[in-house]
Parts: sequence; structure tokens; C-alpha cells
Amino acid sequence: MKLLSVIVPCYNEEENIRDFYDELCKNTVFFEKKGIAFEILYVDDGSKDKTVAEVKKLCAADARVRLVSFSRNFGKEAAIYAGLQKCRGDLAVLMDADLQDPPSLLPEMYSYIEQGYDSVATRRVTRKGEPVIRSFFARMFYRLMNRISRTEIVDGARDYRLMTRQVVDAILSMSEYNRFTKGIFGWVGYETKWLEYENVERAKGETKWSFWKLFLYSLEGIIAFSTVPLTIASVMGVLFCILAFAMIIFTIIRKLIFDDPTSGWPSLVCIIMLVSGVQLFCLGILGQYLSKTYMEVKKRPIYLVKEETGGEISDKDEREKA
Ligand code: UDP
Ligand code: MG
Repeated sequence: MKLLSVIVPCYNEEENIRDFYDELCKNTVFFEKKGIAFEILYVDDGSKDKTVAEVKKLCAADARVRLVSFSRNFGKEAAIYAGLQKCRGDLAVLMDADLQDPPSLLPEMYSYIEQGYDSVATRRVTRKGEPVIRSFFARMFYRLMNRISRTEIVDGARDYRLMTRQVVDAILSMSEYNRFTKGIFGWVGYETKWLEYENVERAKGETKWSFWKLFLYSLEGIIAFSTVPLTIASVMGVLFCILAFAMIIFTIIRKLIFDDPTSGWPSLVCIIMLVSGVQLFCLGILGQYLSKTYMEVKKRPIYLVKEETGGEISDKDEREKA
């Protein structure tokens, strides 16, 4: 019998845990008919509300539900990594707890796996219900990203993705600390089917992503999947050298031919300001890459588990089988 793992990262989602479970269960019948069992793995990312208690209630009632709870908030990327590491399924699907990833798509997604695709990803074609400025910057980000990175990063792609064990293992083999999952999915490749759907607004609670957080996240993505900014720094350096050289020649010739006094304190100040600005900018770019390298070489764990419960029965089943 095949097993499908549903991985649900949650951070302060107490209101959504139950609703998500109910909604998902409405769609499990299709899979049970096909002889595919479910496991629902909630990854609690250090929630400060009653998320853990809510999941434990479900664990007690349903042996298919499991909980992995972090020692603190490590971020959604870490929760995804933990979920993929802990899941036991032959297939795995990542879903948000806020019902923005409609479980009703699952049967269709599975049909593509049956057709031989390795993973089925989703993207939202609208950004309904999102602030206009945010959508604008998001679109700019994707356009920039696809210019400067060789890894394909799809606009509007969600983390809602069904994949085979092979793809899960491929993603797990990328054990980097700075995890930009959208890039990682693109990087591992495999045959991916894209499904499109209209944006669904979050059921309850609030989004965890402020504009500033998203901005930092986008920088992370650029640095993790492109080294073009470093090239820009070098190119700018060369351009400014050429410019300076031309200006020196120009000044000397002007002095020799027209005997012009080389005046211009203000222009000098402007030039110094401009050039030092560019220098600092380039240094900043270097610093960004260096800081990421620093975090990588430390080899800190991506997450720390405080508690793991649930799924006991499936454990026993496995032992019986063995
Ligand atoms: N999430 C998480 N850790 C975090 C932030 C978010 O595990 O630090 C989870 C959150 O509980 C939700 C999913 O990631 O299930 C998506 O978060 P959210 O809905 O806030 O993001 P949005 O859909 O607005 O992009
Ligand atoms: Mg959401």
C-alpha cells in the first residue's frame, strides 16, 4: 500500500489546524479508493499559541496525524525541510495550514503523477486580495530573478507541490542553511507539471509575511541562486576606472591647450561622493555573499526538534510488516 505524506508547516495557526484537517479529510476518499493511505504531518514552527495543543487533539483522535514541534521559530523553509525529512510517504505534498492551498486539487495533482510526472506544482494566476504594491514588487522580483539566475523561478509559484520520493530525496540532498525553497525546487529539476488556480485568501488568522520580511527573503533568493550582483560590482569598478582615466586625459589636455585653471571644488566633491557611494555599494554586495558563506560554514542545524508525537499506529504497522 502506498503512503502519501501531507506536510503542513504551521506557525501560530491554532484557528486553522482543525479546519484544515476537516477539509483535507473530505478529499482522502479518492485516494483510499486507489489504495493510497494518508499521513498528515504538522510541523509546528515554534508557535506561541495553541497550535501544538490543537494538533495533539487530532493526534489522539486519528493515528494518521503526526506532529513535529520545533524549539523556536525557524521559518517556513526550515519547517518544509523538517517535514520532508520526517515524512515516510512514497509521495509527499506540501500545504499551508491556512487553506490557501485547496485540498480539492489533490486528485487532479495525483492524476499527473500517475501519468508519469515527478512532481506537480501549483501557481496562482491572480493575486486577488493582496496589496497592489506588494504584487508589483513581487512581479519585479520574479522578472529580475529570471534574468540573473539560471535556475527557473516561476512567478506566482506556491509551495503547494506534490512530489515523488525521488524528488523529496533530491531536495533533502541540498542541505544548505540558507534555504530558498522556490529556487531549490527549480534547481533539482525533474519533470514538473504546473497547475494554475485563482488565488484563495487565507481562511483565518494573519499572514506571517510583512513587506520587509518579503524584501529580505527576496534578497536571500537572489544571493542563493545568482552571483550576478558580484559581476555587477566588478563591471562597475572597471567602468569607473575607464571614466576616471578619460577624465584625467581630458583635464591634462585642457590645461596644456587652453591653460585653463583646474578649478572645481564642488565637482570634485560630487565625484568623490559618487565614487565612494559606488564603492560602498559593491562592498555591501560582497558582504552579503560573505555573510551567507559565514552562515553556511558554521554548519548549524537547520532546525531543532523539541517534541515529536503521533503516528504510533503506523509505526506498529510497519513493525508488523517487518
Ligand atoms: N509559516 C511557518 N513559519 C513561519 C511563517 C509561516 O511555518 O515562520 C507557515 C504558516 O503557518 C502557513 C505557511 O507557512 O502555514 C504560509 O504562511 P502565510 O500564510 O503567513 O504566508 P502567505 O500565504 O501569506 O505567503
Ligand atoms: Mg497564507
